[in-house]
Amino acid sequence: MSQFSQHNFSGQKALIRVDFNVPLDKATQAITDDTRMKAAIPTIQKILKDGGSVILMSHLGRPKEGPEEKYSLKHLVKHLSELLGGTTVLFANDCIGEQAYLTADMMKPGEVLLLENLRFYKEEEKGDASFAEKLSKLGDVYVNDAFGTAHRAHASTAVIAQFFPKEKRMFGFVMEGEVNSAEKVLHAAEKPFTAIIGGAKVSDKILIIENLLERATDIIIGGGMAYTFMKAQGGKIGKSLCEDDRLQTASDLLENAKAKGVNIHLPADSVIADNFAADANTQTAASNEIPDGWMGLDVGPEAAKAFAEVILRSKTILWNGPMGVFEMEKFQKGTKAIADAVAEATEKGAFSLVGGGDSVAAVNQFGYTEKVSYVSTGGGAMLEYFEGKELPGIAAVKA
Ligand code: AMP
Repeated sequence: MSQFSQHNFSGQKALIRVDFNVPLDKATQAITDDTRMKAAIPTIQKILKDGGSVILMSHLGRPKEGPEEKYSLKHLVKHLSELLGGTTVLFANDCIGEQAYLTADMMKPGEVLLLENLRFYKEEEKGDASFAEKLSKLGDVYVNDAFGTAHRAHASTAVIAQFFPKEKRMFGFVMEGEVNSAEKVLHAAEKPFTAIIGGAKVSDKILIIENLLERATDIIIGGGMAYTFMKAQGGKIGKSLCEDDRLQTASDLLENAKAKGVNIHLPADSVIADNFAADANTQTAASNEIPDGWMGLDVGPEAAKAFAEVILRSKTILWNGPMGVFEMEKFQKGTKAIADAVAEATEKGAFSLVGGGDSVAAVNQFGYTEKVSYVSTGGGAMLEYFEGKELPGIAAVKA
């Protein structure tokens, strides 16, 4: 059992760093996707059920300097109250200062207080220790449940932890879920372990591939980044996406993989288009024989079949990045085929973790969310975790 599950919050004020950085409609400020708010509800409810009270702090958007109406967390109060089954949610229009302290002081068990946007203070992103100390005075226990910002050494995500003794700082359920599933893949992966890496750019994924070379048995490379690898091997890629300054990196990665006995799978064929458009003309071609004037926008049927075979014999699967331009119908078959295979492998007992903004969007769009073992919500944080970096938000709580 985890520290959080075992802790009895009765009579205590829990200061929780949540990730309520939800998208808001520009005109009406209505919440357009409440996934991140919903994710935090079990953590909040556990504390309330124990007989504790909850003080929530988060950032929202990227305010430039000081308070900005459109980034106020007050827009979230009503919906949060609904998600908590009608519990009243108090709001403090500052995250520190007299009103916040007074309200926090008077809170009774079962009550919830939402603080105003942390990033209205530049000290938050600077990781200012005295700002963190001021925040720490609001609660008796610090709970970090914001995986999405765990890779930032900000005041409320990392620096604040030092102001609480070890037994009074911990992860909430969201963070625990993220950390446990990432650890399982990184350090306790049952083999064969297949990593599926896609998306637009090689440069964004070099570090993750390098780290996975130490752990995975197979690495599937799809999406726009595959064409840099194709060209590095002397293939003709037409006007497909290519990072010419990464050709050497791509060759080196392939060499390293060979030396370490890791199988790299590149798409044998591609769905190619004469234009980057939903209504482009399309055909299938070998990925290293793409005619001039054409570009690869999805993995082809042969590649999808070969990738699916690798996935189906895996016991651990990590998936980051789509196989093609899945936002357009003509180029989503490859990503869909991979989602299908990951779902089938999971059903047969494999552990599958999907993470990174666009692969999560794809899994949601195709309705596979419930068919994989774990969907990570932290894009940048997840990527850095799998690059092998220590995330400040995690390290500070564990220290
Ligand atoms: P990333 O954020 O690096 O994971 O990249 C995701 C984006 O890559 C998505 O918006 C896809 O549309 C795009 N993408 C995937 N495959 C290709 C491709 N073959 N050519 C251009 N863009 C692609």
